[in-house]
Amino acid sequence: MQNKSMLEEAAELIASSSFTIALTGAGMSVDSGIPDFRSAGGLWERFDPMVYAHISSFISSPLKVWEMVAEMNRVVLAAQPNPGHLALAALEKLKRLHCVVTQNIDGLHQEAGNIDVIEFHGNGRRLICLECGASFNTADCTEKTKKAPLCKNCGSILKPDFVFFGESIPQEAFMRSTSMAARCEVILVVGTSATVTPANMLPDIARQNGAKIVELNLQKTLLTSRLTDIFLQGSSSEVLPILTDMVARKLK
Ligand SMILES: [Zn+2]
Repeated sequence: MQNKSMLEEAAELIASSSFTIALTGAGMSVDSGIPDFRSAGGLWERFDPMVYAHISSFISSPLKVWEMVAEMNRVVLAAQPNPGHLALAALEKLKRLHCVVTQNIDGLHQEAGNIDVIEFHGNGRRLICLECGASFNTADCTEKTKKAPLCKNCGSILKPDFVFFGESIPQEAFMRSTSMAARCEVILVVGTSATVTPANMLPDIARQNGAKIVELNLQKTLLTSRLTDIFLQGSSSEVLPILTDMVARKLK
């Protein structure tokens, strides 16, 4: 159950912070119908990511990779932002959230209305051509076919613009997010245990620079006892709207 005084304390921190960032992960989108790929019954149980989501597989057998991507797209492209995404967008409008750093590839923060979103793992709503560099909207290219879509410029098989295993994190995303973490007064960690590099670095960087860490997860994580100042327990789609309302009231 949610502890109301903890929520109040978190709202107070966010209302009075002049620079707050959010770090989000898979838990953020579960209530949009996107299960954690790594969870039991998740995508990676049926498709070994080292085979289906490795960049070397895409280069050697893109059609095989597209069997997995088509499956992923059925879920990701149909998903809509949930009340948690909308609450973070509202917090940005209130100027109490300055940037969202996400490990998700579903694009739902942007759909919800957040303007400054840093994507560590790219975006599955875009496709790119490794040959000519063109990019396309995934929904426009894959609507009626489960086959691998071809580049309209050069005819090559397009690659989803998310980061495959064996590829590095986009350099700009890495640079910007670490500088945001160094600068923030509050980091709101939502729906992630922040154990995967480089997301796991951000709470530490924030802490070293004096920031408070507010964590919202269904269960405690490795972060909770090590770094977290305020732990909020619950689903992001339930707790974030309440938190944003509390912040908005404090600003009046
Ligand atoms: Zn091309």
